[in-house]
Amino acid sequence: MKQTILQADPHYLFRFFNKLYKMVFLMKVTKQGYTYELVSDEAAHLASLPGDYYGKTIEELYPAEISRPLIDQYDSVHKEKTPVFYADKMNKRDSGITYASSILMPIEDWDGKVAYILSMTSELADEAEQQLITSMENIDYLTKLPNLVKAKHEINKYLQLETPPVVYLLYINIDRFRLLNELCGVEEGNRMLQKIALGIGALLPDRSIFGRVDGDEFMVALIDQEEELVLRTAEKIMEMMEGFHYVVSEVKITLTACVGISSTAENANLLVSNASTAMMEAKEEGKNTVKIFRESDRARKYMDELLLEIELMKAIEKQELRVYYQPKVQVENGQVNYEALVRWFSPKLGTVSPGKFIPLAEKSPLIEKITVQVMDIVCRDMEKYPEIFAGARVGVNLSANLFEEAIIQRTLLKTIEKHKLYPEMFELELTETMLIKNPEKGKETIDYLRNLGFRVVIDDFGVSYSSLNYLKMFTFDGIKIDQSFVQEIDKNIDRKEYEIVNFMLTLARKLGLFVTAEGVETLEQLKVLSSLGCDEIQGYYLSRPQSLEFLSDSTAQAKNKMNEAKKRMPEGHLLLKEASGENQLFKQPKPYALPNEIKEEEAFDRITRTVRAFFQMPMSYITFIQDNKQSIKSSCGMPQEIMEVGEVELEKTICKEVVSTKKGLIISDVKENAKWSENEFVEEYGIRFYASVPLKSREGEVVGTLCLLDMYPRSFTKEQYMQLTDFSYWAMSELEKTMYPIH
Ligand code: C2E
Ligand code: CA
Ligand code: CA
Repeated sequence: MKQTILQADPHYLFRFFNKLYKMVFLMKVTKQGYTYELVSDEAAHLASLPGDYYGKTIEELYPAEISRPLIDQYDSVHKEKTPVFYADKMNKRDSGITYASSILMPIEDWDGKVAYILSMTSELADEAEQQLITSMENIDYLTKLPNLVKAKHEINKYLQLETPPVVYLLYINIDRFRLLNELCGVEEGNRMLQKIALGIGALLPDRSIFGRVDGDEFMVALIDQEEELVLRTAEKIMEMMEGFHYVVSEVKITLTACVGISSTAENANLLVSNASTAMMEAKEEGKNTVKIFRESDRARKYMDELLLEIELMKAIEKQELRVYYQPKVQVENGQVNYEALVRWFSPKLGTVSPGKFIPLAEKSPLIEKITVQVMDIVCRDMEKYPEIFAGARVGVNLSANLFEEAIIQRTLLKTIEKHKLYPEMFELELTETMLIKNPEKGKETIDYLRNLGFRVVIDDFGVSYSSLNYLKMFTFDGIKIDQSFVQEIDKNIDRKEYEIVNFMLTLARKLGLFVTAEGVETLEQLKVLSSLGCDEIQGYYLSRPQSLEFLSDSTAQAKNKMNEAKKRMPEGHLLLKEASGENQLFKQPKPYALPNEIKEEEAFDRITRTVRAFFQMPMSYITFIQDNKQSIKSSCGMPQEIMEVGEVELEKTICKEVVSTKKGLIISDVKENAKWSENEFVEEYGIRFYASVPLKSREGEVVGTLCLLDMYPRSFTKEQYMQLTDFSYWAMSELEKTMYPIH
């Protein structure tokens, strides 16, 4: 049966209902959204509407947290063509929050389309309001499920019974849900959550308590069920999840979830907290995993750590720690340096990897003791074996906890002086992650160390990939590209890792940094990295870390291998490096080559491809600007229509602002941006997100732009902005090669 739908003059209906209700809104359904057509005085006052509400959309007048739920209600009236009744908080200007109930009625035009929606609202009587508050505050607005408070309350009711039933708790977290929100928009994310909630609900046995914890997390309490059925339910939930997917840049991404399970706790709080711990453990194992919480797991982990710490303490006391050295060979001249790596061969525990005990030691003063011992051994070895170490620098890893002048004095300087050595003979390796965590401290420490004469390099570079631009805050000597990039590099030259390493090297050269690649395991990796311009190679291919006893043999072998490898490298690999070194490049500037004459299109395509993948945006492009005209040099993911436009007047583009200000421009939502929402380009192609940074020549002139686009509004962090700027340097250095060709 067709629902009752009003089909009459909307203005007449408004006046009619205004006699019955004080608060009446007539909203027009437009392409932009629901716009205010008529509002009763009382309604305008209570809803804090501004004087010029006419023709404005809900989202123009209210922040998202108010407008979104409201629009959802209107959407459902619009779509379902049926009246909706709902109760919610009302935003009152003066008296804070009160509660109101509303009826939304669709009004059709003669074609049967919903053209207006009439909303009639009345404030609730005190008693009704009170009831509503208690029920509403405990209900999740989006999924209509009980929230965490309410769900826990229900669970406790069972647990407080005289003979409580067995309660299992499933804590469900959707994997990488943030990505979906970011890539497809929050609305799509919300719709997906609603569907998932329905899906899970349908799988649960009777008497289950099902609630939404927050964001992408749900919880289910199963009452009086066997463990087997509990596990089966978890599996069914995970299977159901795989039925959902979303599409980004033509790639179908399937949803998965991790589930943590707990039982037999005395209250709901503990039950939930244990299940959530198990869920986190499941996450650590990877996506799409179930994990059951066991009290014994926690105890065992604790015992393991305690035992390790006690044994480590003894080892330090008895000076059981050893140091191995791994050669690092310079590509250009075969010069060898070393990295000192601590080793622990425990009589009781066997060989313990520093990857295991260093992080533990870093939680306590043990790390200082370890560093003193390592430094002492290294200095002793350097003093005793000049035939190995003369002229070589030795790299030592320095933990962030030791970033205090007094500690550095105690751990490093005192020992170095004792052995009559100099800071200049050492290289300190500091990890990137810890510098970013506390930049001020990091900067202070690096400056201090370099002033003392140490070389400072950034270890594990690229892991937390924080823009090199960011790292420009610090003055250091070099970077060590992390193994994870290096080990992917020979497999396929088209891989993202290749581009990223290429990009890091381009930037490093621009900043005059020395680059070491670590974890090089194959000849192929060595060849690729050298040809990209790495200065130094470290890894199992040349030599594993060795005890002093075998070090000179290993060093000789490593040198040989580098020599052999260089012979087998394609002619001119070193030329390539020299050619792109800054000095060579700018010796004899030539006039700009016309953009069209650039042959290395591929170089720019690589950049746009990498940028697009890096930011996970659908579209990226590089433009060139000349004579107030803009043309797209390379693009990735752009619709054909845009590409066919060819050259455009700079005046018509948003990029003109980037050109005139010489600064980057980020517009989270172009449609909401007063200045640009009417832009032809934007209106025609539905662009919502725009980010652009200038490509600047040495003279400071803007010769092009590097841009990112999306059809959805987006937020863009300062860090991402800096990363985009980094990529612009890469683009610029490719461009410079053609602007200043070397002959
Ligand atoms: P790291 O500073 O990144 O050290 C490089 C690690 O990679 C070393 O592991 C080294 O043995 C390993 N490695 C070298 N070449 C290759 C290769 O080709 N393939 C692979 N798969 N691995 C390679 P190690 O010795 O186990 O050290 C682990 C981490 O422990 C080090 O990572 C460093 O962060 C820390 N560490 C080691 N010694 C010390 C120390 O004396 N003090 C401090 N604070 N940390 C240390
Ligand atoms: Ca290191
Ligand atoms: Ca490293």
